[in-house]
Amino acid sequence: MTRYIFITGGVVSSLGKGLAAAALGSLLQARGYKVRLRKLDPYLNVDPGTMSPTQHGEVYVTDDGAETDLDLGHYERFTGVPARKSDNVTTGRIYSTVLARERHGDYLGATVQVIPHVTDAIKEFIRSDITDEDFVLCEIGGTVGDIESLPFLEAIRQFGNEVGPERALFIHVTLLPYIPAAGELKTKPTQHSVKELLSVGIQPHMLLCRADRPIPENERRKIALFCNVRQERVIAALDVDTIYQVPISYHEQGFDDEVLRYFGIEPQGEPDLHLWRDIVQRVRVPEGEVTIGVVGKYTSLIDSYKSLSEALVHGGIANNVRVKLEWMDSQIFESEGAVTHLEGVDGILVPGGFGERGTEGKIRAVQFARERKVPFLGICFGMQMAVIEAARHLAGLTEASSTEFGPTSTPVVGLMTEWTRGNTREVRQAGDDLGGTMRLGAYEARLVEGSRAAQIYGSTSISERHRHRYEVNINYREQLEASGLIFSGLSPDGVLPEIVEIPDHPWFVGVQFHPELKSKPFDPHPLFTSFIRAAIEQSRLV
Ligand code: GLN
Repeated sequence: MTRYIFITGGVVSSLGKGLAAAALGSLLQARGYKVRLRKLDPYLNVDPGTMSPTQHGEVYVTDDGAETDLDLGHYERFTGVPARKSDNVTTGRIYSTVLARERHGDYLGATVQVIPHVTDAIKEFIRSDITDEDFVLCEIGGTVGDIESLPFLEAIRQFGNEVGPERALFIHVTLLPYIPAAGELKTKPTQHSVKELLSVGIQPHMLLCRADRPIPENERRKIALFCNVRQERVIAALDVDTIYQVPISYHEQGFDDEVLRYFGIEPQGEPDLHLWRDIVQRVRVPEGEVTIGVVGKYTSLIDSYKSLSEALVHGGIANNVRVKLEWMDSQIFESEGAVTHLEGVDGILVPGGFGERGTEGKIRAVQFARERKVPFLGICFGMQMAVIEAARHLAGLTEASSTEFGPTSTPVVGLMTEWTRGNTREVRQAGDDLGGTMRLGAYEARLVEGSRAAQIYGSTSISERHRHRYEVNINYREQLEASGLIFSGLSPDGVLPEIVEIPDHPWFVGVQFHPELKSKPFDPHPLFTSFIRAAIEQSRLV
């Protein structure tokens, strides 16, 4: 029997609902249950693929090629359950489904309305693609009280009523702000937020209260009384030093026990948390430190590189070191002499990106890494910049560029309009809609025997997630390889370059895919483990 847990947020945004859902998922999993996590986003974009990463944070890509909310990254990193297309929906997607049905005549002459047609489509999504999961956790984006989230709240209210309380649990995440003048954690915003939720017919069964210090029993009692929630179900979610401590802290507060008891299951023994304890220990007591310079474009919002910064932390966990990140806007390297800023770092990473702004700075950062023999990892756009750099400065193709920046005589990076996925041919056009028209999701690659890439992976056959429109142009392979940049990974048909490397360099690798999307704290991605190891070597040199 599948049970549903709905997670809403109140008081303010950015309370870490996604992390809360992910951590609860991992706790239930540690007790042997099969879980699935989903996100319902109230905004009107059909998916976050067209949103600026500096506004909404990173776009997380699933194996099956969906562009989704970054919270799905947390879900995967905490549970290891691969997220799917069917795990993220937005108002935009719901409305496009409803409107397509209306045009198709599926509503048989009915007046199409938010209730029941939109709410039905939302409930259909919640139920879809579920098999033998014990628990499905659904996080509702936004904050209770937003106009946009109303249809979602109405849909989960109806859903809870339909499946019955024994199969639906409502958890509300709130904030208890500390007011220094009063010397107290304040419960009023939580009371108001629960009232707001009650006004749409949802009585939360459990409250997860974010606070920066322990919540006195008296305050818990007060919250329980005013919010009509049992006191043991008012759970403190205190700030922690590393996100990987969250499952442990929640368990100490009795969160998973209370969730099970709500469903009438008496918790048996303790969940197996040794994995998380080990990770937290490694994060807290590292044996050393390395500094990685991340030369990107969206450095103003740390969430725009969420999976990347986590994957670098995982590389540190694998090597028992703390990874210090220096976020650098690539544009600074466009002024003469600015590359000296890179002198203090032990490794340079150029991440994914779109558009021409800042690219000359990225190319300079690559050149610095190549010439000064600093470990370098280029991801997606970062690999494309590494190829342009090598073409210009090693192969003598001075005009080398990408067609992403306009017409060029030397398109070492260009738009591919056809490519294969397994046995099917996929086609796109230059003028296609922007949303969902990239090479998206998992694709296989073959690695050259004996290459650094093959050594790192311990295999010559890999599968990684993609999200890009442009490809390195295979026609320049011979010229680039002759100058020292080797194509060590290709698509199975040999047409699309997937990995480049410079053998005559301590560690220089560019990948067309996004390895950071598959890294887990308990299973760090081999590329990040190897890159951080190379950075440790580098730190010993300087
Ligand atoms: N802008 C490049 C492309 O579309 C790279 C994309 C990325 O880094 N994700 O191919």
